[in-house]
Amino acid sequence: MLIDYHLHNHFSPDSREDTRKIVEKAIEMGIKEICITNHPELHDKNTGKGIFRSKEARDRFRKIKAELDDVQKEHPGISIGFGVELEYVENWMDELTEFVKETDFDFILGSVHIVRSVIISSHLFADELYSKTDEQTAYNAYFDNMMSLVEWGHLDVVAHFDINKKFGHKFYGPFQPEKYKDRIIPILERMKEKGIGLELNTKCMDTKCKELFPHPVILNWAVEVGINNFTFGSDAHKAKDVGQFIQEAMEIAKKAGIKSISTYSKRIPTLHAI
Ligand SMILES: [Zn+2]
Ligand SMILES: [Zn+2]
Repeated sequence: MLIDYHLHNHFSPDSREDTRKIVEKAIEMGIKEICITNHPELHDKNTGKGIFRSKEARDRFRKIKAELDDVQKEHPGISIGFGVELEYVENWMDELTEFVKETDFDFILGSVHIVRSVIISSHLFADELYSKTDEQTAYNAYFDNMMSLVEWGHLDVVAHFDINKKFGHKFYGPFQPEKYKDRIIPILERMKEKGIGLELNTKCMDTKCKELFPHPVILNWAVEVGINNFTFGSDAHKAKDVGQFIQEAMEIAKKAGIKSISTYSKRIPTLHAI
């Protein structure tokens, strides 16, 4: 079964895409379940930095849910989940906890995009960190934030586990997970203890670092540690990118020993054999 559990539409600050076009593309790709996972923060137009305002986010996500309900009625052949991609920013987490509790999500992705106040997922900013910092310092700081996100815990699945390599590879060469094993394994173990799953994110398989997030070695470790829930996401911000490389990621998952994928409804996972 093909799923795409990481999608952004026109309600996300970084996408303008029409929801119906996303759904039509997913159906065309043979995908059975999708989940729309917008960012709750907005972007400051001058600095590009995220701003989280809880009332604005609540109002916007109410509109997202209403639109998804309408689109679901028009397309009964595909399941459309109501999700969110939360961001680890230390001083937002109390408000995000409230936001999560008050919103009836099917699925919550948790991400780290910011390291030492620099947005590392954007080419406009990532160089600012990597050009001035050695690999170990930058990547250790990234994984420390990841551990803080997992400890916070109000999420179902960690998104793009090693997005540090997206632009980091330009400065430091291909990402070698073995060098960070002592930081990565404890994160995976904590995820296992908390029932948090891992995303296979295909966004950069043909661009930037040209790899799946996470690296197959990390997938092997996740299986060894006993993580149960795995989702697939294209992280598409445009309809044309929906479902891209999900089939390829499925093959990588099988090679890593992953036996099932998870879908979520009201944050409860259902496992499907692959
Ligand atoms: Zn992200
Ligand atoms: Zn995303």
